[in-house]
Amino acid sequence: MSEDRVKKILSLLKKAYPDAALVLHYKNPLELLIATILAAQCTDERVNKVTETLFKRYKSAKDYANEKQEVFGQEIRSTGFYKNKARNIIACANQLVERFDGNVPDIMEDLISLSGVGRKTASVLLGNVFGKQAMAVDTHVFRVSHRLELAKTNDPDKVEQELCKIIPREEWTRSCLVLGTHGRRTCIARKPLCNVCVVEKPCHSPDKLIIKDTLFDNKTR
Ligand code: SF4
Repeated sequence: MSEDRVKKILSLLKKAYPDAALVLHYKNPLELLIATILAAQCTDERVNKVTETLFKRYKSAKDYANEKQEVFGQEIRSTGFYKNKARNIIACANQLVERFDGNVPDIMEDLISLSGVGRKTASVLLGNVFGKQAMAVDTHVFRVSHRLELAKTNDPDKVEQELCKIIPREEWTRSCLVLGTHGRRTCIARKPLCNVCVVEKPCHSPDKLIIKDTLFDNKTR
């Protein structure tokens, strides 16, 4: 992978998505932690609907820690896998209270030691509320990285390492947001909008879908 190619791709994407940002709504590290755990196998839009009510009711790690799993499960039911998510969030909240005085830690090792928190969730927090550089590989970043040949492996944690190697550290968080936004808005999983894609030229993906203007073609025949 040439350095120039990576630079070019990222520069085009940054220009195309100057507003690239997280879709999840949050006002503090705890809210982003809960929202990111809920976002597993669920759309961010659905999570935002659920957290609109949830965050009014639960304001501290203690509030989550003291809740009954069955009750909390019903509150987050529509995000899917709600039993697992409820178990993890309540366990995580207990760990925050016991080990971190109710605060969300800002160190990768501490974050991934919490229940339900993997490297992706930890990186989302580090990059977006703690001002650190982190590569959060979600489903969109994963797909776009593969289609643009920025990564090859099938393990998201390894894709994170691959991206960290080819993207300068000071650009990790921003690049991730831009790749994710491209995945949501243009390089969509089932039907990528290649006709309007700003990185269509350097993209050699077999998923590339160029729809010809048949009306124009017929007229010119
Ligand atoms: S050309 Fe298509 S497949 Fe390639 S990055 Fe753009 S939208 Fe994705």
